[in-house]
Amino acid sequence: MSQTLLEMAKDLVLAQIQAKTLPPDEMHQALQQTYASLQALKAQEDANGSVAVATSEMPPAPINWRKSITKHTVTCLGCGASFKQLSVRHLKDHGLDGRSYRIKYGIPRTQPLAAKEITSHRQEVVQRTKPWEKAPTFVKAQEEKQRVKAAVAQRKKTARAKASGHHGR
Ligand SMILES: [Zn+2]
Repeated sequence: MSQTLLEMAKDLVLAQIQAKTLPPDEMHQALQQTYASLQALKAQEDANGSVAVATSEMPPAPINWRKSITKHTVTCLGCGASFKQLSVRHLKDHGLDGRSYRIKYGIPRTQPLAAKEITSHRQEVVQRTKPWEKAPTFVKAQEEKQRVKAAVAQRKKTARAKASGHHGR
């Protein structure tokens, strides 16, 4: 409760005076009665263990992100949509990225934002191909860099061609 019972009682009585339903000289008695009523309500509330009024002191129940990642889907905690994996593009719709999304919902940094089957499949591939057994030489790494660069350039070119083709239509 953000207000004390006495403050609430005072406000209620003042409201009655302002509404002219209560003569000012009866204020004291009304205040005592209202306060007693509120105390009784409070005691009842405490006994029931339930709070009808939303309180500012209570933090919202943490969202259980574990439930959002199942075998076949990952559910966006921002909008409830289901995916095979949460894309950067989708998170951007919420003004988030992988990092801020994890922070917002208390997800560990190492948790992949993807359905479990996808994650386990990736782990399987890594286990099978054992990339650490093929330690690349420096030259090989350079070659790979060049190849990736070329592929990226090619992809950009294709995207540009697609974009301009689209505008041309
Ligand atoms: Zn979403």
